[in-house]
Amino acid sequence: MPAGQVGSRCGQNTCRHRVAATATRLDPQAQVVTLDDETELPYDNVLIATGSSPVRPPLPGVDGAGVHSFWTLEQAEGVIANVHEGSHVAMVGAGFIDFTILTAILARGASLTVVEIAPQILPRMIDQEGAALVQQWLMDRGVTIRTNAQLSAIEDAGAQKRLRFQQGDDVVADTVIMATGIRTNLDWLEGSGITIDQGVVVDAQLRTNVPNVYAAGDIAEGPDLITGEGAVHAIEPTAMEHGRVAGANMAGQPQAYRGSLLMNIVEVLGLEIASFGAWNDTEADVDQAIKSEGPAYRKLLWRGDRLIGAMILGPSKDIWTTNDVGMLKGLVQTGTPLGEWKAYLRQHPFEIKRAYIASGTTARLLPLTVQGSPSVPAATVAAQ
Ligand SMILES: Cc1cc2nc3c(=O)[nH]c(=O)nc-3n(C[C@H](O)[C@H](O)[C@H](O)COP(=O)(O)OP(=O)(O)OC[C@H]3O[C@@H](n4cnc5c(N)ncnc54)[C@H](O)[C@@H]3O)c2cc1C
Repeated sequence: MPAGQVGSRCGQNTCRHRVAATATRLDPQAQVVTLDDETELPYDNVLIATGSSPVRPPLPGVDGAGVHSFWTLEQAEGVIANVHEGSHVAMVGAGFIDFTILTAILARGASLTVVEIAPQILPRMIDQEGAALVQQWLMDRGVTIRTNAQLSAIEDAGAQKRLRFQQGDDVVADTVIMATGIRTNLDWLEGSGITIDQGVVVDAQLRTNVPNVYAAGDIAEGPDLITGEGAVHAIEPTAMEHGRVAGANMAGQPQAYRGSLLMNIVEVLGLEIASFGAWNDTEADVDQAIKSEGPAYRKLLWRGDRLIGAMILGPSKDIWTTNDVGMLKGLVQTGTPLGEWKAYLRQHPFEIKRAYIASGTTARLLPLTVQGSPSVPAATVAAQ
């Protein structure tokens, strides 16, 4: 559909959609959204789902040519066009986004330097012990990693880029990828009276402080499954759950949900890394176990006999890494009381499956949908 066009019917309901149109104002009292061409869209209910955008530190040269973000399709195409056999790529920020593309960068034949301001890589996803294992895994495969690296400027160096740091040697690269964090796209809500903290604050129905204004996805600070408090997860599963709960409520089917589980799962060069729930809770009882062969790492965080968080790391070709990722997620998500199996897991942290099966976690997991209503078999839905 050409940019800006309005139209189309969706099923039995009349849907109108506008592309290439930016919402610039929300007026909850008048119940109107204003677009950048001053079009006013009146509404009965409105959903704020404007997501998040990458942010770069305010340093000289960070917005220059050859310095890329990796967020939109256009930006991804810009990176692909510049990464090829023999080129050198510098990634600034060793977080989740960089790690989702790291394997693909190397597969194009480029060499790679990762620089991170924190003392460890993946600081918002795994602990120091796990980060040390991942760092060694990457260095063994030719990736250069610098932590505690505070970038001060990016300069032109002929056709290349020179990264300067507050301390230590410069890094010279053909392409620079900045993945230094995100911010929620909140600007257009200024003056709307919608309560904002880290994101748009919503309740268990995904409703804001204004009853007919909802928010979902990266922009929403919704209930966290483990803590029950508001959190901005900025991950796809949470966005999907928010959308379903908000959609049901906006359609007049009241639904509350317990909250979403924070989870991050990424694979780099054959190493699977995942964390769930309150993986960095400093008040939890913690069990850790590392096997240097593999390597493999399991971290279990307990409240009473329930797992409230977990971390796992291991080669993705090892079937027990993949299986344990799913089972640990299930154990944390259901909060299954593990009784005597807690002692077993504390002694055998790599034997997740026995505790998972014996505790009946699958049976707890399967029957419930995100909205808390019983799941319906696909055949029943198809027959309806
Ligand atoms: C490279 C990358 C890899 C990722 N990998 C994973 C992963 O492996 N697993 C995972 O769980 N999550 C991942 N994520 C995060 C995931 O994509 C987001 O959590 C998810 O897309 C959030 O959905 P959303 O609908 O809230 O926001 P978005 O998908 O960002 O959609 C928001 C939309 O609103 C539009 N918009 C913004 N402002 C306005 C405005 N004022 N008016 C009109 N429209 C506006 C934007 O253009 C955008 O189309 C990744 C993200 C990136 C960038």
